[in-house]
Amino acid sequence: MVVCPECESDIDLEVDEVEEGEVVSCPECGTDFEVVTVEPLELSKIEEEEEEEEEEEEESEDGDYS
Ligand SMILES: [Zn+2]
Repeated sequence: MVVCPECESDIDLEVDEVEEGEVVSCPECGTDFEVVTVEPLELSKIEEEEEEEEEEEEESEDGDYS
């Protein structure tokens, strides 16, 4: 039994059935994890591609209003 690093729910995962590099997802929070190592089992959260570029464009055009 593996505990989800994100929500600490039990992930129904058989250690014997996973391989390194395999992707598992938590049924509870839906987070995807990649199996980093199997001995001991270590999961790495897969960050979703963040294509949203948060460009903080300051619209305050501070010109010379003096
Ligand atoms: Zn979870």
